Amino acid sequence: MGIVDRDIRQETGPAAHAAAFLTVDLGAIVQNYRLLARKAQGAACAAVVKADAYGLGADRVAPALAAAGCRHFFVALVGEGVALRAILGPGPVIGVLNGATPGSEEACAAHDLVPVLNDACQFAAWKALARRLERRLPAILQIDSGMARFGFDPAEAAALLDAPDALDGLSLRLVMSHLACADTPDGPANAAQLSTFSAFRQRLPMVPASLSASSGIFLGPDYHFDMVRPGAALYGVAPQPGRDNPLRSVVGLRARVMQLRSVPAGTPVGYGHRAVTARDSRLATVAIGYADGFPRATDGFAGWIAGTRLPLMGRVSMDSIVLDVTDVAPGAIGPGSLVDLLGPEQGVDALAEASGTIGYEVLTRLGRRFHRTYSHA
Ligand SMILES: *Cc1c(COP(=O)(O)O)cnc(C)c1O
Repeated sequence: MGIVDRDIRQETGPAAHAAAFLTVDLGAIVQNYRLLARKAQGAACAAVVKADAYGLGADRVAPALAAAGCRHFFVALVGEGVALRAILGPGPVIGVLNGATPGSEEACAAHDLVPVLNDACQFAAWKALARRLERRLPAILQIDSGMARFGFDPAEAAALLDAPDALDGLSLRLVMSHLACADTPDGPANAAQLSTFSAFRQRLPMVPASLSASSGIFLGPDYHFDMVRPGAALYGVAPQPGRDNPLRSVVGLRARVMQLRSVPAGTPVGYGHRAVTARDSRLATVAIGYADGFPRATDGFAGWIAGTRLPLMGRVSMDSIVLDVTDVAPGAIGPGSLVDLLGPEQGVDALAEASGTIGYEVLTRLGRRFHRTYSHA
């Protein structure tokens, strides 16, 4: 807690006016990276920092991970890769998961990015650029082992590799695939994808292989191959829904109380009068809303202050929510008080659960309106 308190008191700039505060614990991200790397011992542990490190700020997250020894990063888009190369400088490998959009291959090569080649089109375009530049270009080959999203159909890739000059101009760094159901360990899909991927891999036995993201790491060593690619777990999202989360909490979110009122039982609250007070209540209007990425669909959620639960009343507005603060001792809350919304006791998965989505979506939507603080503790 100390970090935010200290910053708010010290800042005379934007923080002094800010109404909501996001803290990102870079030390926790590094500890999560180390835990995942240990869990996948024997395999290299890459870090997925697409979508601005899941909304937490790739410019802060990626250097912290690089300093902790991470040498392989993934983004989704060439544009993200260009930005990340400027952040990290030369050295770390940066893979582009979606591959290059037609026409962006040159930018990809110029910034030393390694595109994932997902189909014959991307494959041919990257080879054509290698011919034009008269040098071998690094590449990652993706196989669709059973998700029907990105990657070659295995038979199509096998046929392509039958040509003697198939890999001319390319230096294949990795063959990869992605699991569709890694968060449901008991289903049959994981074993099926593992078997499809392992069979294809026989075609390229000398090329390192990668199958698992965050959840796949927890399916066991068979799923680790030579590299794992966690994203969400680095940021504290539970890799195995319904089981204990072994990862450290990364995100803290607090917002200020703007207004307090006392109302009788039976008072309708907020848009659509969706909630009605069940008792004589004290209500606090708090400065966070769906424009900040706090999901409008949230229901059955609570903030807290000094250990007291503050149930969310009615709909989330664009710039505010209303919390029931009846149980807070009078004098212990007032305009400007900070209410905790996310932290170690209640993480992004809890907010996701209360709003019908997943921790990934909550994270990537957390808005730009917060005052952000990064800690290294
Ligand atoms: C997003 C992504 C990852 C990281 O997934 P997490 O579930 O966040 O760990 C890894 N590989 C691919 C292909 C992805 O698209």
